[in-house]
Amino acid sequence: MATLLRKSFLHHPVGHNLYRALKALLAKERIVRIEMLNAYLPKLQQGCVLMICAHCEAIEFADLPAIRDQLLEGIHHSGFHPQKLVIETLGLCADCSVGGLNPSEFDL
Ligand SMILES: [Zn+2]
Repeated sequence: MATLLRKSFLHHPVGHNLYRALKALLAKERIVRIEMLNAYLPKLQQGCVLMICAHCEAIEFADLPAIRDQLLEGIHHSGFHPQKLVIETLGLCADCSVGGLNPSEFDL
């Protein structure tokens, strides 16, 4: 049923327009796709690492240039030419960690 709804939505003119709008916003880097959540987020921060809190669903970007450069060097060394580099990590944010929550107890 979900597949049928998804297919009918994507073949509907509104679905096409929405897909084109998302694609344009992604190209302009106004939004970022969060693969783990199957969602999009306005890109209000810079950074190649997305930290997603499994408890409160807060999302933060981290810019770790040394790690980014090392990853890109390794990727280029393999002959692959990435268009962009985004790393997603799921866990607990600083606020939720204070309460002693266990990250493995949460599933998105
Ligand atoms: Zn949190």
